[in-house]
Amino acid sequence: MPTYKIAVLPGDGIGQEVTPEAVRVLQRVGKRAGVAFEFENALIGGSAIDATGQPLPPETLTLCRGADAILFGAVGGPKWDNLPQEQRAERGLLALRKELDLYANLRPAMCFPTLVDASPLKRSVVEGTDLMVIRELTGGLYFGEPRGRESFADGGERAVNTMVYTTREIERVARVGFEVARKRRRRLASVDKSNVLVVSQLWREVVTRLGKEYPDVALEHVLVDNCAMALVHKPTSFDTIVTENTFGDILSDEAAILAGSMGMLPSASLGPASANGRNVGLYEPVHGTAPDIAGKGMANPLAAILSAALLLRYSLNMSEAAGRIEAAVQRVLDQGRRTADIARGGDKVLGTREMGDHVVRELEV
Ligand code: NAD
Repeated sequence: MPTYKIAVLPGDGIGQEVTPEAVRVLQRVGKRAGVAFEFENALIGGSAIDATGQPLPPETLTLCRGADAILFGAVGGPKWDNLPQEQRAERGLLALRKELDLYANLRPAMCFPTLVDASPLKRSVVEGTDLMVIRELTGGLYFGEPRGRESFADGGERAVNTMVYTTREIERVARVGFEVARKRRRRLASVDKSNVLVVSQLWREVVTRLGKEYPDVALEHVLVDNCAMALVHKPTSFDTIVTENTFGDILSDEAAILAGSMGMLPSASLGPASANGRNVGLYEPVHGTAPDIAGKGMANPLAAILSAALLLRYSLNMSEAAGRIEAAVQRVLDQGRRTADIARGGDKVLGTREMGDHVVRELEV
C-alpha cells in the first residue's frame, strides 16, 4: 500500500481546531482509496515561539522537507503582535514559504449553490462561479531590487520598488497554470498589463510560447484592469487565471468575496517538482487564526477540509479522492448543515467538530 507522509502544522488559534478535522477527512478517504497517510505534527508560529523561542523551529523545517505534503492551519494572534518583526508568529509561515521555494499560490473561488445568497453579489452574477487564481508568490514588485527610499536636500523623498521577472520565473508559474487548467476545464487566462509594462510584455511572450506545449488548453490574455472588472461582472467567464505576484494578491482577494465566507476558502502553495515528479506543496485555509472565536469550537472547518482535497489533487495526484471530499462538502451544505459564519436566521448552528463529523459521515456513503 502506498504510504504518504504528511506534515501537520496546526499553528495557532482556530488553526488548532480546524486542522484536526482535515486530518480526520484524509484518514477516511485514504482508507477507501487504498493509501496510508503518516501524519506527524510540528510547531509553527506563536505556539512554536512559546515552546522554543522561534516561529519556525529547525525540526519543523526538517519535517516539512521530508514530507510528501504539508497541511497547515494558521499562525498569529494578539499575544505575539508586539514582538520584533523578525520574531513575529507570521514569520514562521513566510520563512517556510521561502525555504521551500513555494512560488505558485493557488486559490480556488467557488460559489456553492446553497451559499449563493451569502455572496455580496447578485445571484444572477455569481451563480455557477468556479474559478482558480494562481498567483506567482516569490518574485515581482514585492521582492524586486532596487527598492528603498532616499531623501532630497529640499526635504522631499523618493521611494522605489521594482517589478522584475526572469523568463524562468514566468515559465515555471505559467506551467503550473497550464497543468492546473488541464485538471479543470482546460481554459487559462493569463493576466498582465502589457499595454504599459515591459515586464508584462515579457510575461505575455513567455506564456504564449509555453502555450504551444499545451494545445489542449485554450489560452487567452487579459489585461489586469479588465480582469478586475470581469471578476465582479461575469465571474463565470473564468476557469483558471495565472498572474504575477501583485496582480494576484489583489485579484485573489477580489475573487474570494465571491464565495461568501472566509471559512470556505482553501489554498495551496506549490514549490518545485521533486525527484519523484510531485510538487512539494503547502495546503492551508485562506483565513487566519480568528482570535475572536478561537477556543470556542465554533470555527468553520470546511476551508481546512477543502485544503486537504487540494493536497490530494496537487501533491499526490489523487484527483478522484479530492473530488469525493468536495462532493461530500457539497452534500453537507445541501443538507443545510451550517457553522455560525454561514448560518442564516433559523438555521441550526453546528460546531467545528460536528461539521467535521458530517463530512466524514458523507464520505462513508
Ligand atoms: P481572520 O481570517 O483570522 O479572521 C477574520 C474574520 O473572519 C474574523 O471575524 C473571524 O472570526 C472570521 N473567520 C475566519 N476564519 C473563520 C472560520 N474558519 N470560521 C468562522 N469564522 C472565521 O483574519 P484577521 O482577524 O485579520 O487575523 C487574525 C490573526 O490571524 C492575525 O494575527 C493575522 O496575522 C493572522 N493571519 C494568519 C494567516 C495565516 O496564517 N495564513 C492569514 C491571515 C491572518
